[in-house]
Amino acid sequence: MLLPVLAAPFSKTKTDAVPVYLSAAALYFILFFIFKIPVIKKHALGGLYICFSLFFAFAIFLSVIHSPNMRATVLLGAFCIMPLGFIDRPYRMNLFAAFWLAVHTISAFYLKPQYALDDTINCLCFAILGCFIGNIVVWVRLRSYEAHRLLIIEKETDVLTGLYNRRKLFETLAALETTSAEKPSGILMIDIDHFKDFNDDYGHSAGDKCLSRLGEVFSISAQNFRLHFYRYGGEEFVAMAYGYSEKELLSIAESLRIAAQSTDIDGHHTTISIGVAYCGDEQIKNYENVIDRADKAVYAAKRSGRNKVCNEPNEISVR
Ligand code: GH3
Ligand code: MG
Ligand code: MG
Repeated sequence: MLLPVLAAPFSKTKTDAVPVYLSAAALYFILFFIFKIPVIKKHALGGLYICFSLFFAFAIFLSVIHSPNMRATVLLGAFCIMPLGFIDRPYRMNLFAAFWLAVHTISAFYLKPQYALDDTINCLCFAILGCFIGNIVVWVRLRSYEAHRLLIIEKETDVLTGLYNRRKLFETLAALETTSAEKPSGILMIDIDHFKDFNDDYGHSAGDKCLSRLGEVFSISAQNFRLHFYRYGGEEFVAMAYGYSEKELLSIAESLRIAAQSTDIDGHHTTISIGVAYCGDEQIKNYENVIDRADKAVYAAKRSGRNKVCNEPNEISVR
């Protein structure tokens, strides 16, 4: 969009415009690669404001110094294009446009008084139009980001417990095997004890309430420890732990077991058995094997009486 706008003041014929097109295109490529540099990428918004400031300064130079005997043209393009060029808080973009409008108006009244009023009215109309359309575009884009974010949360979350669901677990496992994502130092498998009896004794909706309360307990724990919880199946959960030693992992599992045991579910209580599979710095090719190891440890906990934490192969905590 900017190429013809930039080429116009430097060319009387189409051939004259070619070098300007080429240098403007080269400039955009250079900017494109500059914005790929991590440090610049981090401050992309500031960088865009600087680029647009240079563009406005250049357009004002053309208007009041290069061609003072003409009405401003490139500047009108700048006012239209800037609000569509990037996304920021609308009030900041509007203030930015107002600032450059003021700079041009003051310079025009000093340096090209014969066209200053015309330019001011034209620039004002283009700035209002640009900001109006730009603000709408920002609003629509933000709405679509928000809708996309909610969709992802819905896709990854288990409705009953508020934890990540099984689909997200397998996505995470796949990412662990294919990308350089941080590897967990261990996996916990959690299974509610005698949950069938809980359902039979207090009803299915009390069972649901129990799952939801345990979901809250696990979410609180995820805030205190580097743990990500997933609902693996009906009353089974998987927690991926990051950066812990085996001893720390077992003590975290023990604190989870105690937290679950002391959770009140409308006057009822339940317990959980936890299997711990520690992998530390092991090179794991298939994390489903680690889940299987944690699953075996849960069975060990069940066999030795439930409400226990077991790792492979030793049981470490007894009620
Ligand atoms: P154990 O101590 O050996 O784990 O015994 P358990 O009764 O917990 O194990 P079992 O696998 O036999 O039973 C699991 C029960 O979990 C059966 C099923 O009715 C119940 N369940 C699974 N998903 C849900 C759910 O979403 N809501 C409710 N209320 N119950 C569920
Ligand atoms: Mg089970
Ligand atoms: Mg169970």
